[in-house]
Order: sequence, then C-alpha cells, then structure tokens
Amino acid sequence: MKIGILAVQGAFREHEKILQTLGADTVQVRLPNQLDGCDGLVIPGGESTAIGKLMRQYDLMDPIRDMAKSGTPVFGTCAGMIVMANRIQGGEESHLGVMDVEVNRNSFGRQKESFETDLDIPVLGPEPFPAVFIRAPHITSVGPEVSVLCEYEGRVVAVQQDHYLALSFHPELTGDSRIHQHFLSMVEASK
Ligand code: GLN
Repeated sequence: MKIGILAVQGAFREHEKILQTLGADTVQVRLPNQLDGCDGLVIPGGESTAIGKLMRQYDLMDPIRDMAKSGTPVFGTCAGMIVMANRIQGGEESHLGVMDVEVNRNSFGRQKESFETDLDIPVLGPEPFPAVFIRAPHITSVGPEVSVLCEYEGRVVAVQQDHYLALSFHPELTGDSRIHQHFLSMVEASK
C-alpha cells in the first residue's frame, strides 16, 4: 500500500515515519506525478494559507481534488483539516473543499495556543489518545454525511466522512499510531 504525504510545508516527516513504522510505503508529494499509484494521501499540519498557496503554485490542487472525489482516502491534520474543509469561518476562500464541514482556523485561544491532552476517541478503543493541539482549528458545523469521532470541551475535533478523515490536532507528534492505523484500514477498505 502506497501513501502519499503532501510535503510542501509543515509536519510531513513525522507522518512519514509513523506510516513507515506501520509498514506502508510512502512518497513525499510535491509534484503532480508523485500522486501516481498512491492509495491514500495525508495532508499534514502547518499553515493552511501557505499549504493552499503552494498546492496551487505546484499545480497540485486539481489533481488532488480529482483523486479525492474519485474515492482515494485523504487524511488531514490541523492545517490539513482546514485545507479539506469546504467552509472556512471569516469568509476565507476554501482550498480543496472536499469535506462538508465548516472550520474556525484558530479556535483554541492564546493561553491554549499549544497543549497536550488525552482524548476519548471511541473508534480507536477505550484507551485515551494523547493529542497535541498547536494553534488548533475546530469544526464549527458538520453536514449530514459527517460522523463526529471526538469532541473536546464541547468542540468537534475529529471527523470522518466516507473516505475522508480530519483532525484538529497532531497525532503524528505522539508515539500513539492508532489513528494512522485507522487511516490505513480506511485505505485498505477502499481498494
Ligand atoms: N491554525 C493554523 C492554520 O490556520 C493551523 C495550525 C496547525 O496546523 N498546527 O493554518
């Protein structure tokens, strides 16, 4: 199974390491032809405006959207989730816009710009998941096809919609690989 990791900006190396530990082949994606043969794609955290701009500049936006719409699983974390959302609060233009969710880009305020907490994510089993939030967005509304996987302090922070998975936090910065394993199962199921 080959997983592409969008590598234009942000925390792509950490995703790569975890996915390799889980036995997946990975490829860093900066050019459209690097998407060839990918069974799934990860869009990492970083800065969504920069990622969106570079995706347009490198002619990646349309091929990734086509790939996503034709059923290839996509997993976005933090800025990656913002890139996947079809609505961004504050009137900003959406990027890929493939998930039926609205996001608030910087919802965890100043004192909480960066923090770690244990989350209850039932789809991963009873063990709490250690989550790192860094200037994290949250999901302010979800469409009817979207399942909420986790809420933190009343805010939606993890969602799945068919073959799309998106999180407010960074699962690649802790040693827990269950979310990546969950994504690989989604990829396996889509083949
Ligand atoms: N809030 C950032 C943005 O708007 C995302 C932060 C992150 O990916 N850690 O892009």
